[in-house]
Amino acid sequence: MEHNLKKALHPSKGLLQNEDLYQYILENSVYPREPEPLKELRDVTSDHPWAQMGTAPDAGQFISMLLKLINAKRTIEVGVFTGYSLLLTALSIPEDGKIIAIDLNRETYEIGLPIIEKAGVKHKIDFIQSEALPVLDQLLKVPENVGNFDFAFVDADKVNYGHYHERMMKLLKVGGVVVYDNTLWGGTVVMSDQITPAPMKQGRKLTIEFNKLLAVDPRVQISQAPLGDGITICRRIH
Ligand code: SAH
Ligand code: CA
Repeated sequence: MEHNLKKALHPSKGLLQNEDLYQYILENSVYPREPEPLKELRDVTSDHPWAQMGTAPDAGQFISMLLKLINAKRTIEVGVFTGYSLLLTALSIPEDGKIIAIDLNRETYEIGLPIIEKAGVKHKIDFIQSEALPVLDQLLKVPENVGNFDFAFVDADKVNYGHYHERMMKLLKVGGVVVYDNTLWGGTVVMSDQITPAPMKQGRKLTIEFNKLLAVDPRVQISQAPLGDGITICRRIH
């Protein structure tokens, strides 16, 4: 009761609490502008048992805007799944742009591949089936790669987010941007461990730790946006 009164007097600016507002944004701003191939990719992914993992279309729309704003050409994608964020990146960068896309699982990438091919953007993608960390370390061994990427999207195993961040701080140019997905972890970051559903517990802890780490990292300017499952945008400042 007291809590509700406080809420009414100081309404939150956040939208996440309101499912109807979220649907409103999707139906009025996101879906009407979503490119056809992305809709198709969402469609072929929808009955996959892990469909929930696909990037939220509202977050995707924002990432596409960001890619255009910073004129991103050389990008990295950690965690491809069926390729929603990969395809939206490929559609947003120029004809001669390149994406190094890394995932342990090639089978899920192949679900979206025909749509990526049909959209005419396959030539921009270098898919590497592997654990991401060794690939990033390999990239760093080539001097031309250091400080030479414009953008990265990180959406794989949360346990390595801190390690990915260290690599990205070297691979990105100053002014480059890395976006981390799922930084609100289903809203569990504000739940107690007790009420957090068991399958979410470990991710909750890791996400809280990672968010703390970003908040005090002087190498980046950050903005955590309540799009999709929460994304944190980091711009390398030095
Ligand atoms: N960005 C995707 C969703 C990624 S889901 C989209 O928009 O649809 C997370 C993906 O990370 C899964 O496909 C999983 O196979 C991959 N993954 C998990 N751990 C990984 C690791 N250590 N290295 C590389 N990929 C990993
Ligand atoms: Ca995700």
